[in-house]
Amino acid sequence: MAVDRSAWLRCYRCWSQNLEIQIHYDAIRRVDPASGTLAEGVDEVQEAAVQCLDCMHDQPHLTFEDDMVVPIEDRWQRMVAGTPWVASCTVTVDQDRVETCSGPEAIEFLTFGAFGDAGVREFFTHVRFHKHSEDRIVVHLLVELYARSAQEATEVLEGAAEGQLEITSLAEESRPPAHASDETH
Ligand SMILES: [Zn+2]
Repeated sequence: MAVDRSAWLRCYRCWSQNLEIQIHYDAIRRVDPASGTLAEGVDEVQEAAVQCLDCMHDQPHLTFEDDMVVPIEDRWQRMVAGTPWVASCTVTVDQDRVETCSGPEAIEFLTFGAFGDAGVREFFTHVRFHKHSEDRIVVHLLVELYARSAQEATEVLEGAAEGQLEITSLAEESRPPAHASDETH
């Protein structure tokens, strides 16, 4: 890869290179009845999350492939070089997209219903309230995401929204202070 690894192998918030990864690996294997050995995987799932040890935030611009941490193209440039943007918005989705809108898991289901994977993994979301309108749900949220311009932030929100998106305000915030790499702990 032509791009210097240090450009992306860092925390997108505080630019620290002090990272760690948590890898979860789940497998279901058929057991051979004669020998007790394990056959090929019936179902294998691997999930990895990179975290910054200085600011403790997850790093959704990095993933794990073939024993190495690699960047997610189209995302790392935006997140590492971008600034936080805060949007106040509503997303109107089919009520079937939201498993449940009450109880302790409601916020997560509403967030996922409105913005899918990005809502849960990349954006900082705060669901303010939701309203039912016939067979649709209008989710009112505050979203923080990283982008290089207001236009890019809008495009990312539009791309992630799982229903009709309406942005009522969008404001740039200042980036958290950069982590000094020579700082002594
Ligand atoms: Zn950090």
